[in-house]
Amino acid sequence: MSYQYWDPEFETMPRGELAALQLQKLKETVSYALRTAFYKERLAKAGITGPGDIKSLADLRRIPYTTKQDLREGFPYGFLSVPREEVVRLHASSGTTGIPTTIYFSKKDIALWTGNVARCIYGTGCNKTDVFQNMITYGLFTGGLGFHAGGEEVGMLVIPSGPGNTARQFRLMQDFGTTVVHATPSFLLHVEARMREEGVKRESIKLRKAFAGAEPYSEDTRKRIEELLRIDVYNSYGLSEMNGPGVAFECQAKNGLHLWEDRYIGEIINPDTLEPVEDGEAGELVLTCLCREATPILRYRTRDLSGFYTEACPCGRTHRRLRRITGRTDDMLIINGVNVFPSQIEEVVMAMKEVGNNYLMVVEKEGVLDRLTVKVEVGKNIFMDDTRPLNALREKIRQTIQASITISPRVELHEGGSLPVSEGKAKRVIDNRPRDI
Ligand code: ADP
Ligand code: ZN
Repeated sequence: MSYQYWDPEFETMPRGELAALQLQKLKETVSYALRTAFYKERLAKAGITGPGDIKSLADLRRIPYTTKQDLREGFPYGFLSVPREEVVRLHASSGTTGIPTTIYFSKKDIALWTGNVARCIYGTGCNKTDVFQNMITYGLFTGGLGFHAGGEEVGMLVIPSGPGNTARQFRLMQDFGTTVVHATPSFLLHVEARMREEGVKRESIKLRKAFAGAEPYSEDTRKRIEELLRIDVYNSYGLSEMNGPGVAFECQAKNGLHLWEDRYIGEIINPDTLEPVEDGEAGELVLTCLCREATPILRYRTRDLSGFYTEACPCGRTHRRLRRITGRTDDMLIINGVNVFPSQIEEVVMAMKEVGNNYLMVVEKEGVLDRLTVKVEVGKNIFMDDTRPLNALREKIRQTIQASITISPRVELHEGGSLPVSEGKAKRVIDNRPRDI
């Protein structure tokens, strides 16, 4: 396979040069950070009062971590490091885990961010002959405008469809010959199910690729989307604190997400001890943004769980690859004392052919015990009025989940298309247990 690079010089830069570039940009970012009251105080405590105090990349570890809570406390302008008049746009996180946080962009910041996304898109083999339907939420969420600008930068014809209304999505695909889409993986599964229900013929659309991200999904979910829709699916990772999309992305080797190390510094830490893990081990991803002047953020604890692959990638890019993000440290549920990640359930159910495209977990209190119910949609070949195979399937799902998480869930089977679908990030867990105060 021949691989194409958007920024060949940077994407294939020898690692020694990459490190020198990181150091130079880290110094620049620290000097911006020192203009904010928050970092001025934080960094002074660590003995850093000017960029000259960063002498090597090892000095990064002297910088304290920044948390989502810090960003919230700095709301609205506490992290702004350029005059307000230099800011041309703001974005906010989706607020999945509480009050959203705000990020500001200068014109230069927008241009760099756009370049990052263009690099990702181009690296999957897209070019200006492509028609790109951006089926993700526009607005304060970074996924919409971020991909929109990146798509235009590559020269693709961009259709700003946003999510929702699948009938309209299919019409747009047919009218304009869409070849590439961007969506959450859960929305792609929904699109596939609606295609079948609405009788849209695969031959009537030209789709060949999708960028899927904004929420965790398993390798089996990727395969399922690829097989059902007959397209290539690329994993896209980003977060508003680090601009949005364009932080890490899969290349055509589709084995891990290249973290753009000329634009970000990535570390993996043990979330309990906050110490770095051994090379290649899993842990929490910590990111430093090297490509933004208006809101510098240093050593941000993403709470996302990943790890670096240590081998080189066949595509020739020198930037390290992150493993598929399995979820967030704060996604973890404690059910009767057992730690359960929603991704563990997804891995089990999406690997089963009899299971349809959607599922949901509900946790409740029953007396003193917690009770986990897993609701799954059944696949297209299962008939809801035939109880014997349904009972067998229910039992099979229950046993497989139990083997994975040690807890025996109650399993409910639902008709395809009957569980709720979200336009933004999928809501996979409903925790109805009373909260201890
Ligand atoms: P919020 O933290 O409010 O959800 P964002 O809208 O900025 O804020 O979403 C970023 C988060 O979305 C990431 O920190 C991560 O948890 C999740 N995410 C984004 N892309 C992926 C992906 N490809 N795989 C897993 N999780 C992802
Ligand atoms: Zn690669």
